[in-house]
Amino acid sequence: MLLGVLGGGQLGRMLALAGIPLGVRCRFFDTSAEMPTAHVGECMVGDFHDRGALERFAQGLDVVTYEFENVPVEAARYLERFVAVYPPPVALETAQDRLNEKQLFERLRIPTPAFRAVGSDKELNEAVAALGVPLVVKTRRMGYDGKGQMFVRREEEVGKACAMLGSSSLLVERFVPFEREVSVLAVRAPSGAVVVYPLVENEHEGGILCLSQSPTTLSAFLQKEAEEYAHRILAALEYVGVLAIEFFVYEGRLIANEMAPRVHNSGHFTIEGSATSQFENHLRALLGDPLGATTPRGYAAMVNLIGTIPERARVLEVPGVHLHLYGKMPRPRRKLGHITITAETSHERDERVAMIRRIVSTS
Ligand code: AMP
Repeated sequence: MLLGVLGGGQLGRMLALAGIPLGVRCRFFDTSAEMPTAHVGECMVGDFHDRGALERFAQGLDVVTYEFENVPVEAARYLERFVAVYPPPVALETAQDRLNEKQLFERLRIPTPAFRAVGSDKELNEAVAALGVPLVVKTRRMGYDGKGQMFVRREEEVGKACAMLGSSSLLVERFVPFEREVSVLAVRAPSGAVVVYPLVENEHEGGILCLSQSPTTLSAFLQKEAEEYAHRILAALEYVGVLAIEFFVYEGRLIANEMAPRVHNSGHFTIEGSATSQFENHLRALLGDPLGATTPRGYAAMVNLIGTIPERARVLEVPGVHLHLYGKMPRPRRKLGHITITAETSHERDERVAMIRRIVSTS
């Protein structure tokens, strides 16, 4: 079985590692030769707009997936002429444009922060008048890890934020004074079967995910709400694979922020913390195999390693810890690896997380 993956980052690397025991080999396509997937599969370097290169990539593949969101959707669509591409490119297209994404949420009656698309000064003034401050201004495309967005507290700062983001297609949305941030990972098989993981609670720093924990004290009501919303999106897009949806919890209800049509950073803990990892379940879905159980194995957490890597001996000294390094050159704000923490009780997990965060913050 040969899986083609658009993108050669850490998500591709973890997909390949999950594929090895299942007899799945991977071929990666990316624009730079410096790929974290270098040691786990065949890597092709090319331009996503080069049809000849895409055709060579497609040769002999059983199925294609993608592991980052900014893959040009035309590349995924072109590959569909030769081989099945999952999740369906319409999911990629929707997630790449925050306006499309928000409109999908609205169409499916999934609550999302009030928003306006802005393409001119007039639309900007109307948006500010309609939504009021505080606001968040976001570029419609190419935003991730807090890039391409600015928080605005006073009306007169909105114009400046738009000019700084320097794009003509922006989205202005109401700031949500959320109580918590959570995500749900759901998986759909071609047969329509769906499995959903327990909600994950997330913390961000400067827009980048730094800590995920699951299971947590989130209520069964929120879990049910998240499952219901996930089912709606999966069915509407005739989805195959893992889908992540990020939510704010506000006044005890979920408000959808964004979705990612791929395996997700907030699901890395599932490698050690769940009966079946998100990576294995993504592969199972792509291959039309039965989906695996999403039951937690104890209490898990994940701490991202951003910009620097702590001394490994200090990390591995902490019980219940698993270190994952991505083989990337350190750079500020770059995700270089993560640490999964597992424990038998939530108290034990909290203690271990505190130890790891101390080590990471002093490295
Ligand atoms: P995003 O790139 O949309 O995932 O945003 C990154 C982070 O910015 C989120 O995880 C939130 O912490 C914060 N954020 C984004 N949009 C809003 C909003 N409308 N209200 C409050 N915080 C937000």
